[in-house]
Amino acid sequence: MLDYTPLFQPIRIGPVTAPNRFYQVPHCNGFGWRMPRAHAAMRGIKAEGGWGVVCTEEVEIHHSTDLSPFVEGRLWEDEDIPALALLAGAVHAHGSLAGIELAYNSYDASNLYSRTSAFGPRSMGIAGGSGYEPGQTRAATKDDLHRVRRWHKAAALRAKRAGFDIIYVYASHGLSLAMHLLSQWNDRPDEYGGPLRNRVRFLQELIEDTRDAVGDTCAVAVRLAVNELMGSQGLRSRDEGGEIVQLLAELPDLWDVNVSNWSNDSATSRFEKEGFQEKYIGFVKKLTSKPVVGVGRYTSPETMLSAVQRGVVDLIGAARPSIADPFLPAKIREGRVEDIRECIGCNICVSADLRFVPLRCTQNPTMGEEWRRGWHPERIPHRKSDQQILVVGAGPSGLEAARALGQRGYRVVLAEARRELGGRVQLESQLPGLSEWRRVADWRLTQIRKMPNVSLYPGSRMSAEDVLDSGIADVLIATGASYRRDGVGRTIRRPLAVSDLIYVFTPDDLMVSSGDPRDLPAIVQQGGGSQKGVFIYDDDHYYMGGVLAELLAQNGCAVTLATPAPSVSYWSQFTLEQDRIHVRLLQLGVTLIPQTILTSLEQSAVSIKHTISGTENTIPADAAVLVTDRVPIDSLYYELLPSLRDGRLASLRRIGDAEAPNIIAQAVFSGHLAAREFEEPFTGETPFQVERITI
Ligand code: ADP
Ligand code: SF4
Repeated sequence: MLDYTPLFQPIRIGPVTAPNRFYQVPHCNGFGWRMPRAHAAMRGIKAEGGWGVVCTEEVEIHHSTDLSPFVEGRLWEDEDIPALALLAGAVHAHGSLAGIELAYNSYDASNLYSRTSAFGPRSMGIAGGSGYEPGQTRAATKDDLHRVRRWHKAAALRAKRAGFDIIYVYASHGLSLAMHLLSQWNDRPDEYGGPLRNRVRFLQELIEDTRDAVGDTCAVAVRLAVNELMGSQGLRSRDEGGEIVQLLAELPDLWDVNVSNWSNDSATSRFEKEGFQEKYIGFVKKLTSKPVVGVGRYTSPETMLSAVQRGVVDLIGAARPSIADPFLPAKIREGRVEDIRECIGCNICVSADLRFVPLRCTQNPTMGEEWRRGWHPERIPHRKSDQQILVVGAGPSGLEAARALGQRGYRVVLAEARRELGGRVQLESQLPGLSEWRRVADWRLTQIRKMPNVSLYPGSRMSAEDVLDSGIADVLIATGASYRRDGVGRTIRRPLAVSDLIYVFTPDDLMVSSGDPRDLPAIVQQGGGSQKGVFIYDDDHYYMGGVLAELLAQNGCAVTLATPAPSVSYWSQFTLEQDRIHVRLLQLGVTLIPQTILTSLEQSAVSIKHTISGTENTIPADAAVLVTDRVPIDSLYYELLPSLRDGRLASLRRIGDAEAPNIIAQAVFSGHLAAREFEEPFTGETPFQVERITI
């Protein structure tokens, strides 16, 4: 095993010392100011798991930078201190440092709640809120800029009183005034606009102010996007991005550097691999003697060690890897590297913030549940009896249920019909760009194989009779779901008549466990048919329609993708992928038809209708792929229900997609929930704590 000691060396950051090199960079979470207890508990768990520094998300420093409807941190007044003090205290309880990212967001703040005007580099359209709010900022006068400096200083002092050790000046993701003023388009005629030296002035002043205010006991960190990935239209590492670092090199106590905007910084595994930011941020350490932290979805300890030893960074920055496994550092320290629950890079965590709900994670079902359900990512209540449980189906929900029940100490039998384990995860991870999703099954299988009390039976399709013959009285049905073949979904409510003469496929037909395109149906291999092409109807709106279009286009098919939504893979905007998916499909030559409903499947064509104008059209097609609703595979459950009633079974529960088809994160959560609730009385009451305002 590699010697990971360098990752556990303490490091000085200005007046404070981080106990190791594991640094949870600021990340949004959906709790923010609205759910401070849940927020504090979540950050506290990260510290408990060994993250030497644990930060907040961006924290509003004034009511004129109100980020509603997003729920981020808030430090407008002294009254906001206790909630943040709770967080800092939860982090300190485990010997880690607490960091806070102070932010004044200018045109990124909607101010929908406060109804004030934010100060921007000039009067410009609001990009916060929905992204298209019909309003503008006011152009900040020099007095206004001084005001923001005063507010920032006041917030830094409050942050210090709340107990924070590292205070950020934020200039990244294209979200803050400091970054907006750095932008090349900042043509203000005063000393804050025009040449770079002027555009840097405000950031420099904020750093100096913060140091003056709290630098005696707190470290001052700068989060800077050194590359906006906009070509010559934005900051680039090799020109102005680098020059900013050069100009301010020794001013902050810590450089936290990344790429902008958020979708670039938090790129999904479909588009970027581990360590992808190194080529943009690698230069920073050469320009400063101060510690540097950088991100890049580092999940492998080897890569982390190498990044530190190669001198790319001093501290391993992580948001998503710390969400997927809050105990990642502890597991490295204890030599349990194979136990790390590696992030799969799906950005379901991001979607929580963008949907204004508590953080969730595909890999870690306890994420966001630390306070309200009292869930811990590593510990689980011990079994209540010596009951044995049969889990049918080894997809994400069956695997997680079996693993968590096994962890509780129960005896578990997990039976799976297919020889391959992992259910939809095994199949979907063969699709273009989704290989890392395989980790959902791999981590669970690694854990299960270490448990002598869990037996695994692949290649065992269970009938109701088999279940009853097993003699196991407690049964979980995790048999998944299959896609509908009749078009029924969000927009088509009655089955379409399917012509015998057109090939109709569902995603199930196109996901081959081998991943070998030669195993695809003949008609979609190498374009198939008469070259009229393949028509995909996407009424699912997440990744599946777009990914299948990619698969088929890669296999030489002429692909048309129609969807009732305003854009392809519409929901993937919440995982920050929509733009990239759109670009990739265009590059592959896929014809995209948004705002369109499928009306009929004909002999060698499909008929469609525009959702707004009602214009009808017919498109020639050799085959159609319907990505619509799924049907739970729950016949086994219904066949067994009578045995529950007559007492032959003690308990019977459907979980995952067999209960209600949903995303993989929900299947994992459902399996985990069932394991936690096993032998717990059902009360029908809200099963978690709610943060209420007391009147
Ligand atoms: P989920 O997302 O809910 O975990 P999946 O579709 O990924 O659902 O997984 C369901 C798994 O259950 C599949 O691997 C499937 O082969 C398996 N399965 C379905 N019916 C049976 C059955 N009768 N016996 C054993 N395994 C089954
Ligand atoms: Fe990683 Fe997905 Fe979990 Fe986010 S939700 S931390 S991307 S596994």
